[in-house]
Amino acid sequence: MKSYRKELWFNVPGRRGFVNITSQVREALRESGVREGLVLVNAMHITASVFINDDESGLHHDYEVWLEKLAPHDPVSGYRHNVGEDNADAHMKRQIMGREVVVAITEGELDLGTWERIFYGEFDGGRRKRVLVKILGE
Ligand code: ZN
Repeated sequence: MKSYRKELWFNVPGRRGFVNITSQVREALRESGVREGLVLVNAMHITASVFINDDESGLHHDYEVWLEKLAPHDPVSGYRHNVGEDNADAHMKRQIMGREVVVAITEGELDLGTWERIFYGEFDGGRRKRVLVKILGE
């Protein structure tokens, strides 16, 4: 069995943003040489997510509004976690949007649905953060 590991680094300006990382995961798959297997993609930070959904700007705006309703950034003092920091909302947004995705690899390609794309979701940005890509297979 082949095994391949790669870290993808991001520095999203501002507090929040979504980045389509599908092509970077596909590139890692090429480098791995795996034809049949699985790829795990996970955020290595507790205030960022990896998830799969549509690459559509309206939807991304809707996510932003929805997440802000569920876990508003302000008032910062409303969270007990925010003693010496201000990112309690980012931890909660990460929890909702998830830590990782697993995608099947078939005939050397990511076996995604028609509109499925892999995203990095940043909820406490403005600094370098990383995503792990782990590929296992033959
Ligand atoms: Zn924190």
